[in-house]
Amino acid sequence: MDLLNCKITDLTALIRSKKLSVEELCRFYLDRIERFNPELNAVLTTNSFALQKARDIDNHFSSYKERPLVGIPILLKDVFCVKNMKTTAGSKMLENFIAPYSAEVTKRLEKAGAIILGKCNQDEFAMGTSNENSAFGVVLNPWNKEYVPGGSSGGSAAAVSAGLCVASIGTDTGGSIRQPASFCNLIGVKPTYGRVSRYGMIAYASSLDQAGPMTMYVEDNALILEALTGRDSKDSTSAQSDVPKWFLNRGSTNIKKLKVGFLNKKEAESFCSSEVMQVLEQVVNLLQSHGAIVEEVSLPLMEVAVPVYYLISTSEASSNLARYDGIRYGSRFDFKNTPPSSLEEFYSQNRGFGFGNEVKRRIIMGTYCLSSGYYDEYYNKASQIRRKMRDEFIKIFSEFSLLLSPVSLSTAFKFGEKPVGSLKSYLVDNFTVSSNLAGLPSLSVPAGFSPVTSLPIGVQLIGNHFDEQTLFDVALLIQEEIKAVGKRPVI
Ligand code: GLN
Repeated sequence: MDLLNCKITDLTALIRSKKLSVEELCRFYLDRIERFNPELNAVLTTNSFALQKARDIDNHFSSYKERPLVGIPILLKDVFCVKNMKTTAGSKMLENFIAPYSAEVTKRLEKAGAIILGKCNQDEFAMGTSNENSAFGVVLNPWNKEYVPGGSSGGSAAAVSAGLCVASIGTDTGGSIRQPASFCNLIGVKPTYGRVSRYGMIAYASSLDQAGPMTMYVEDNALILEALTGRDSKDSTSAQSDVPKWFLNRGSTNIKKLKVGFLNKKEAESFCSSEVMQVLEQVVNLLQSHGAIVEEVSLPLMEVAVPVYYLISTSEASSNLARYDGIRYGSRFDFKNTPPSSLEEFYSQNRGFGFGNEVKRRIIMGTYCLSSGYYDEYYNKASQIRRKMRDEFIKIFSEFSLLLSPVSLSTAFKFGEKPVGSLKSYLVDNFTVSSNLAGLPSLSVPAGFSPVTSLPIGVQLIGNHFDEQTLFDVALLIQEEIKAVGKRPVI
């Protein structure tokens, strides 16, 4: 049985028909983690209760049988709290933090019958594009170990593509699900803002953060997102919308009736590598051959999307990360030989010790943007542009049902090629941040490989608010016709 290449529904069918036990499946993945993770460094913690939970499901199968994700081993980015498990957010600041409760995402997965297999490496506090910015070491891209897996959900991406779990959950504030998905040949979905509860998810920038699944197949993604979605009264920004049946309704979109906008094509041509553009052209041809209309469309404000994103996200981060003071939250500096001379020094030593350089850089930038005298010039201005950008998108969606764009400027890059904190590393986010600023659902789907390096290339689909169905359906067409989806690296 080729367990590794089964879709979730194949696995749950095997489990339901008792051809496979949950314990066997769980062991299969734990063994793979033991074998391949020492080199990849994608997984930070495995759940010591996973096998016990698997046996529990096997032993009480009748009460689990109907659950959509029964027995499916899933890894979480290390920002999701799992009760009694270490939750580090990739930071020394939370190196010893054991979560006293579970995130809503964790609870919903468990309720759906999934097994939480463990936690994945990531850029510290989800800040980064390459996973070079974790306090627990870099993650290698399983497609080529000299290259980054993308970030900030780099561990979550590498783990799925290397077959260390069936699926993983990442978070996306400005591209952190979609970009690593593109670098590792996965489907990565950032849902509409408010679809998935942020309760128990360690915050980076609260008005932008969304959780979403990273999977090998489109159908798996739809199935998991259904389990995660729905109103949660513990998150005031959680949307009051129904849970759609994306999986059941898959393929229901009439491609012939679609009007697709190729977003800022000229800009994409000038920024992106030719191999990225070729893959996009191939997707355009596919859509046209199925009767869709594809036209260029422009969002002029995209020109300032990266600066607007960094002003807003660092401002929110400076506020969210103020809680790590070494008293209420966070690691404490060892003061044994040098007791602090003031409370201020106590805080600053703790924060200086616990946070890495990129996090410090962003806190300083965000605090500056929010400080009196600069607030109007930076934070307020950025918020106004953000609102205008959202309005521009809404106008575009009155005419188009879907937008197409690159995910990133290129395939995965080599370690050290875009130094952490450099403008070069920030510009990688050019095509992903605007969906977060506007709260739109957006997805990355594998659509080709570099003819030079053989590294994967994904394309980005952006939908109207709450219209994930169109995204899933077009991604499904790309999966079926282009056939880059489902391919794995040799590790
Ligand atoms: N690369 C972006 C950043 O560093 C996005 C991060 C994210 O989506 N969490 O801010």
